[in-house]
Amino acid sequence: MPTADRETVTGLPPGIAAAREELTPMLSQYADLCAAHEDALVLFQVGDFYEAFCEAAAAVARVCEVTLTERSDSTGDYPMAGVPIDNAAPYLESLLNAGYRVALADQVEDADQASGLVDRAVTEVITPGTVVEDDLLDAGTTNYVAAVAAGEDEANPNGSVGLAAVDVSTGECLVTAGDRDAIAEELDRVAPAELIAGPDAPDFAPADAERGWTTHEYDADVFDRRAATERLSSYLAAPERRFDADAELRAAGAVLAYAEYTQGDDGPLSYVTRIRRYDPRDRLRLDAAAQRSLELFENRGLGASDTLFDALDETNCALGRRCLERWLRRPLVDAEAIRSRHDAVDELAARSLVRGGVAEALSTAYDLERLVGRISRGRADARDLRSLHATLAVVPELKATLAGAESETPEGVTADQPRTDHLRDLRDRLDELVDVRELIDEAIAVTPPPEITDGGVIRDGFDDDLDALRATEREGREWVADLEATERERTGIDSLSVGHNQVHGYYIEVTDANADRVPDDYRRRQTLKNSERYVTPELKEREEEIVGAAERADALEYDRFVDVRERVADETERIQGLAEALAELDALCSLATVAVDGDYVRPEIVDDADAGVEIEGGRHPVVERGSPSFVPNDASLPRGSIAVITGPNMSGKSTYMRSVAVAVVLAQTGSFVPAQAATLPVFDRLFTRVGASDDIAGGQSTFMREMSELTEILHDAGSDSLVLLDEIGRGTATTDGRAIARAAVEFIHDELGATTLFATHYHELTDLAAERERVFNLHFTATRENGDVTFLHRIVPGASSSSYGVEVAELAGVPAPVVDRSRSLVSGAGEPGDGDATSGSDATVDPAGRDEADDLGDADADARDLGVRSADETLDPESGLAAILRDIDLARMTPIEALNALHDLQSRIDDGE
Ligand code: ADP
Ligand code: MG
Repeated sequence: MPTADRETVTGLPPGIAAAREELTPMLSQYADLCAAHEDALVLFQVGDFYEAFCEAAAAVARVCEVTLTERSDSTGDYPMAGVPIDNAAPYLESLLNAGYRVALADQVEDADQASGLVDRAVTEVITPGTVVEDDLLDAGTTNYVAAVAAGEDEANPNGSVGLAAVDVSTGECLVTAGDRDAIAEELDRVAPAELIAGPDAPDFAPADAERGWTTHEYDADVFDRRAATERLSSYLAAPERRFDADAELRAAGAVLAYAEYTQGDDGPLSYVTRIRRYDPRDRLRLDAAAQRSLELFENRGLGASDTLFDALDETNCALGRRCLERWLRRPLVDAEAIRSRHDAVDELAARSLVRGGVAEALSTAYDLERLVGRISRGRADARDLRSLHATLAVVPELKATLAGAESETPEGVTADQPRTDHLRDLRDRLDELVDVRELIDEAIAVTPPPEITDGGVIRDGFDDDLDALRATEREGREWVADLEATERERTGIDSLSVGHNQVHGYYIEVTDANADRVPDDYRRRQTLKNSERYVTPELKEREEEIVGAAERADALEYDRFVDVRERVADETERIQGLAEALAELDALCSLATVAVDGDYVRPEIVDDADAGVEIEGGRHPVVERGSPSFVPNDASLPRGSIAVITGPNMSGKSTYMRSVAVAVVLAQTGSFVPAQAATLPVFDRLFTRVGASDDIAGGQSTFMREMSELTEILHDAGSDSLVLLDEIGRGTATTDGRAIARAAVEFIHDELGATTLFATHYHELTDLAAERERVFNLHFTATRENGDVTFLHRIVPGASSSSYGVEVAELAGVPAPVVDRSRSLVSGAGEPGDGDATSGSDATVDPAGRDEADDLGDADADARDLGVRSADETLDPESGLAAILRDIDLARMTPIEALNALHDLQSRIDDGE
């Protein structure tokens, strides 16, 4: 979240700028680095701390909650604040959260060896979208920076826009293009942490500001076609031929330029080995509203605290988790691909030993994608290489588990039956990378130290020169170790000892009592209280040999380590290929585990234009986790039909609709679905619109927004779309809302043919079933049990009573006169204004519509008769109660509010009004 004073503290702090001419060399270097990073806050290494000065110091002190101190030199006093380099992560995180980009200016020269000022350079710019530090990233999630570029066709405001996204920690790179609306939707799906906008690019605001990205204008030059082409040519051959749209190429070039800039600008990121172009239409399109209302990745506090992703996530490693997330964000639309994933899940579900083996092997796997990123960026240490080795070491075992699955014969599968192609392909893609594994094993110490410059990293036997140096060092040390004995013998001094300290190196110590027996070749080095320390020319020589060999060995080890790291980096693509296969295997195993544990069923996918949704005993995977007594429901939706769903508040309408949509999303993700049986078509788009008043958790409850989302649906939905409309039209006056809802349903039916679930509180809309061929009614009811009103959560055909609020009141035990009067008012209020203001055809209500109603509907008809009578008999129209009743705006009340009103009335009767 950008803070108000952020502008003043990125780039050159004014306090430093003002003193620019007289700064000491060090602060002058700081000033130069700040000036070169205008959009970042520069953290400047001084010894063990990262420091900031003047206004930047004040910001660091405030955001990181560290003390503001002062640096005084011959030119003046400068406010200063710093964070320890050793433990910088939490402070960097605070700065990122406060909306800063942070440039780390490290000492790039050894302070001891520098003559004069130590050289410093910005080695990394940390930004929300380009962080690579494990400490600052969530394990198992992707973190993208994206760039958007406008196409050439500037005359067309909805013209082509290019979108490119990179996860700098793993090297994943995605590129696409589309019109403005498609890209807006795609951005919500990619959900980058940061967006770089090219010149003339449309302004893309996140649908959800809280979760959304920060947009920022980076150097416009990187969006230039020529610059982008040049940049891309270090990633792939002939880039100009690889992209259809100019905007794609420019977005890709720009995002990589920015990624390189944040990694210290030392050239191309070699671990970005694949730039994947894709067409959003090749995936089930789920816009931000659908992702949100189906709670795919974000819980909105409606019931259970989990998301759909949580319900599906039984992965064992970060790789699998990220893969599953990608799958759920982009469900498939190709029936064959969907069935192929189902095949794999089916097989894994049947083979618990394989699942167990995979889980065991992968739970020790490191995050290969990020490891390989670090290796390529030259940031990996010896422990990282060992982690890579440990992960490669599980691959053979994993392959054996997959291959040896024949020993476990699941029900209905004969031992020699071929494994599914999907799993066999996966097994074949598990590259054991024997060469890399052996290289690391031969080269790198089994438990290396954390530093790669202090030796102990390379194993004996890997390098002859290193072995020779180590031998020299070892022999020298052995000679020294023997020295005590030989000198004692030579001098006859029994108490003579040999030692070593940091300042003076090796010495021979002789007590003062024996001073007269010291040989001639001893040179005095240090005098202590009761003894003298000496060296001999030979000891001196040996010492130099040992120290020299050790120093050269450390330097050589470092060089060798870097060589090994580079040789491993050369295999980046293969490691990434393995990582991808492991990730898929883990994701499939997760789906299989969920299917088995959650009692899911394999959906039959019918890829034909008029296949509809048939679900038997469907459940909502998230809601059922929170409530053990979840009531399964069937769903039978012929293609292009519209189910109008009525029933009291809290009876289960929204849950039912979502469980259908979630089943579709799950099936197309490759998962089984929580149901007894399911036959599903392949949809290509899924729309949801939750009425403004029901969308409280979204914090965007404006009628305007509701209408603009409805507009989108009415524009874009088609026969391959699944549409969920939940209580639309509620955010405005009843007549308008009802009119809009009715007109929308008619339009969807007549013009779009989208398969639709429509939950409504406008009971009048149930008439549509009689007027439109493919519209039918469903409803939820309530009963009374032991004096309590209970929602059965069971869907039944037909329309519910128009006065379900009153029914509930009656079930709850509200006295008959009040219930009766309420009924009469409901039917009375329903009649005169019932006609749809915008459509003459609705002025007469087709009685057939009422016939569809069930028992409650009949009760409703009776109630109307009753109502007329009871009004005359029981309530004086002039009484206070009557006035209150008349003022109640029933049409705008929820059943709960109605109940409260009734309760209020009842207590007035009790009070004797
Ligand atoms: P409506 O949309 O009709 O107001 P909801 O779908 O929001 O009702 O459901 C209200 C609550 O009822 C949910 O939070 C859930 O706990 C419970 N519920 C809904 N459907 C079922 C079901 N099929 N079985 C059990 N509980 C359910
Ligand atoms: Mg609801």
